[in-house]
Amino acid sequence: MYDVIIVGGGPAGSTLARLLEGKMKVLILDQRDLGKPFAGGFEKCCGGLLAPDAQEMLARFGLGLPKTVLAEPQLFAVRCIDLVSGQQRYYPRHYINVKREAFDRWLVSLLPPQVEALWGANFLGFSQVSEVVEVSYLHAGQRQKARTRLLVGADGALSRVRRGLGPSSAPRSYVAVQEWFEVSEPLPYFTAAFDPAITDFYAWMIPKDQMLLVGAAIPASTDVLARFELLKTKLLAQGFDLGNSARRRGTSLLRPLASRGLVRGAGQVALIGEAAGWISPSSAEGISYAFRSALALAKSLEKGCEGALSRYRRLTRGLELNIWGKTAKSPAMYWPLLRRLAMGSGLLSIKIVD
Ligand SMILES: Cc1cc2nc3c(=O)[nH]c(=O)nc-3n(C[C@H](O)[C@H](O)[C@H](O)COP(=O)(O)OP(=O)(O)OC[C@H]3O[C@@H](n4cnc5c(N)ncnc54)[C@H](O)[C@@H]3O)c2cc1C
Repeated sequence: MYDVIIVGGGPAGSTLARLLEGKMKVLILDQRDLGKPFAGGFEKCCGGLLAPDAQEMLARFGLGLPKTVLAEPQLFAVRCIDLVSGQQRYYPRHYINVKREAFDRWLVSLLPPQVEALWGANFLGFSQVSEVVEVSYLHAGQRQKARTRLLVGADGALSRVRRGLGPSSAPRSYVAVQEWFEVSEPLPYFTAAFDPAITDFYAWMIPKDQMLLVGAAIPASTDVLARFELLKTKLLAQGFDLGNSARRRGTSLLRPLASRGLVRGAGQVALIGEAAGWISPSSAEGISYAFRSALALAKSLEKGCEGALSRYRRLTRGLELNIWGKTAKSPAMYWPLLRRLAMGSGLLSIKIVD
């Protein structure tokens, strides 16, 4: 019997397993093979930018990044483009540009040896009987079972653990599409583009080594691929070099609005990271939220599994307020008129000197 089984070895799950420091009997499992260097195949669909909040969490964890996880170039400015009005502004902001698959594997390499890790294991479901949770998963073609005092869902936006808890208030649902283009000269900015004909959220362009990553979070209820094609047409018209397309990926992205869509768990089951809905509703930045929610649950477990969920609820009130704050700030970015006024004022922007 385990104290904690964690489903998902992304930033949230691996951070929780690391912070439990071998003090509890922990099993972490993931469908990805995170124990080996990435060699193609399924990859986490992500921009791979560590925003200042994620950088601050790495600082609080006392961690520095190895160069093997870094992608080029490192970024110091966000270029914002309103694709309807043609307005453009540059804002200073430092992002650490990483290779997401390498980043996740580096986090996993920090796990204490006492943590049992099962890679290439597909979580299937769970049942709660009084104080014990029975977890079933598929590993090496075999259906297997394990028992635990606490099950943690760190299995991302499409969390099966969360779905196992029953219906919950749904966050707004988007499909995030990302296409990789081989380019001769990578742009030195992170570009954010806005256009209500494409999405009420935003589109992004991120240079990554010799590639340009073009992505957009598009409402799931619309013709997502047609809107993504429209985005590319508009970017070409803006002079972007989209070069040769190397690959395209898509995934689900849930956007919490205020506290709608946040679920911390129930009974003997807790949710962290994007599985709980912890992601910025204004920028879709989620790595810092994965770190912060994992830290809150690790602290809640210091006194054992009993009562951990209510301690976790208490410790994440600040994070919930943070989501409220970001929801309140969103209109300045996403309401066309307010955005035009904000960009037109030039407030906080910088001029690029060639
Ligand atoms: C297109 C896109 C771009 C983004 N760009 C950025 C960015 O640049 N910066 C940023 O900070 N955030 C970004 N985000 C958000 C960020 O990727 C997530 O918020 C973050 O990865 C959440 O971490 P997590 O550990 O909660 O979940 P994930 O990173 O999603 O990890 C979940 C893990 O669970 C595993 N899993 C899922 N289901 C099962 C199952 N049934 N059985 C076993 N394992 C399972 C998965 O394999 C995965 O390893 C982006 C999101 C999207 C969709």
